[in-house]
Amino acid sequence: MAVSDAVPLPQSQVVIFFIMRYFNVIGAIIVIASGYIGYTSEDSYLHGIRVSPFADLLLIVIGLVYLINTLIKWKQKESDDYFICVNCKEPILRTLSKNNICQTCGKKLEELKGFYERHKELKEG
Ligand SMILES: [Zn+2]
Repeated sequence: MAVSDAVPLPQSQVVIFFIMRYFNVIGAIIVIASGYIGYTSEDSYLHGIRVSPFADLLLIVIGLVYLINTLIKWKQKESDDYFICVNCKEPILRTLSKNNICQTCGKKLEELKGFYERHKELKEG
């Protein structure tokens, strides 16, 4: 799946992107599962302290909300997760960018979404 037809993505960033996606889902499932196990077991102890069924239910709810939130984000276009450097025209993963500054040239990063609509002159370069 291409982020944008105009922008080829560095392979390393694509890999990080997918790992982070699946970490979120796995984490959510673990939270839900532990809440479910705690809720359905007769005596639920965590570090020797009795965990109330309410806490287990809360875990399930938090896990579900997080999971749904992650799935909604998946539906958004991948280009929403990227910045691009106006100078280098290098796309960079949003979470990897520091202070919206390009690590290569130090120029400000812009949202990849709509970049080529705002900078028509850069489309063919
Ligand atoms: Zn740059």
